[in-house]
Amino acid sequence: MTALNPAGWRPEMSVSGGADDSATFTGNRALMLEEPLIFEIGSTETTGVDFDDDAPAADPGSLMRSAPIGLPGLSESETVRHYTRLSRQNYAIDLGLFPLGSCTMKHNPRLNEKVARMPGFADVHPLQPQETVQGALAVINELAFWLIELTGMYGVAMSPKAGAHGELCGILCIKAALEARGEDRRVLLVPESAHGTNPATAAFAGFTVEDIPATKEGRVDLEALKARLGPDVAGVMITNPNTCGLFERDMKAISDAVHAVGGYVYCDGANFNAIVGKVRPGDLGIDAMHINLHKTFSTPHGGGGPGSGPVVLSEALAPYGPIPYAARYADGSLKLVEEESAGAEHPETFGRMTAFHGQMGMFTRALAYILSHGADGLKQVAEDAVLNANYVLRSLEDVLDAPFGPSGPCMHEALFTDEGLAEGFTTLDIAKALIDEGYHPMTVYFPLVVHGAMLIEPTETESKAVLDQFIGALRSVALRAKNGDPALKAAPHYAPRARLDETLAARKPVLAWEGNL
Ligand SMILES: *Cc1c(COP(=O)(O)O)cnc(C)c1O
Repeated sequence: MTALNPAGWRPEMSVSGGADDSATFTGNRALMLEEPLIFEIGSTETTGVDFDDDAPAADPGSLMRSAPIGLPGLSESETVRHYTRLSRQNYAIDLGLFPLGSCTMKHNPRLNEKVARMPGFADVHPLQPQETVQGALAVINELAFWLIELTGMYGVAMSPKAGAHGELCGILCIKAALEARGEDRRVLLVPESAHGTNPATAAFAGFTVEDIPATKEGRVDLEALKARLGPDVAGVMITNPNTCGLFERDMKAISDAVHAVGGYVYCDGANFNAIVGKVRPGDLGIDAMHINLHKTFSTPHGGGGPGSGPVVLSEALAPYGPIPYAARYADGSLKLVEEESAGAEHPETFGRMTAFHGQMGMFTRALAYILSHGADGLKQVAEDAVLNANYVLRSLEDVLDAPFGPSGPCMHEALFTDEGLAEGFTTLDIAKALIDEGYHPMTVYFPLVVHGAMLIEPTETESKAVLDQFIGALRSVALRAKNGDPALKAAPHYAPRARLDETLAARKPVLAWEGNL
């Protein structure tokens, strides 16, 4: 088999190609460390682990490999350095403002981490006897209580593992409720201003998705929605606040109209941080809504970090919610209602979303977050999230086109477009130039309702000083794009890599792999 490259540095690895005056021998630039792929520096001859040659071998039978696996190996210290060096090329919320719209990249209080790491929580096993995990069940149950209280809903399914998973759970509840009524309604209406996961979920659950247009204001067109309602409509999926960063003011009228024809209302509540403590979705006639604990109630997420998407349910849908859930009994004990007890206690459940009970670590973090903020603190979360987004919106609308600026205050995020940039300059140029300024770019080209969208969610945890610096950076970049500064077209100039062909990289990843897995 082909040997991999010998471990270590090779002259051609120099990052800058040696052409410019600032090139260094190593390719490193002070603390900006260049790092080749592990396939380039690892060798099949090296390993950081020693196995005992005398260990009795289990009989591998037909699972035995016929050839060496060919994985590149490094010594322990080289391995640690390789991944630490790579990790330094990441942007993180602990490094600076992370303006990704819709993602709610906010500060994660360290108190949550301390609580989640307490051995009594961190070390529980999902198959432990229930009488030994009463504390963990109490956390699930108390968090469930808070979520119901904050949303004004009737029940909650705690087990979904992310926002999109929660959407599926809610839609499966709607499906089960329709089946129980003996109805076969096939259509889910999804407005243009909904998050992309909404139509994907509806289609995945077997519904036909139909668009509802947005008004010029960026909200659901109530009249168009009413005109489409009928006996084939299972319901609507509405993102509120929507992806234009606006509150759907007609939500109650929408719910009433959908209920009048026998449909259900799903609300995407991923961005609940904009309204927590201010609005109770249950009062707006919503039947099911997922809450992204990792966004609103803070857990480090993104880049593969965990999600958790509990779904609050109305009285009409709660009977169909999934098992298991933690129930408190008259003697004070907590038990999980699972398959064995569901027949008696929750007979109409549609079944399970997950093998176990949900994201325990995130439940602990979310409850720690909620209890440390208290009801008044949670209300201030929403107020500050909205204040910060409006500060960004109003500070930049003189240099960037804000299509819904005239629609009134935004909620948790500010939306701009590429209208008015110099000929040939795009949203992508602005995003790339922000990398040179030391920021992760905002969400780009989403939502689709406007051309060249830039969606900025500053979140409530940023100070005015941090926002002012970001606004200054974006203002400077926007002015360069308006004036057609050619240097912008080649940005980023200071990042380890400049513009990759992202489509090609995703479709045809080149992995220097010569093994035979
Ligand atoms: C983040 C988000 C989702 C998806 O949540 P995941 O946890 O990533 O699955 C859905 N809708 C909206 C509006 C979101 O912001």
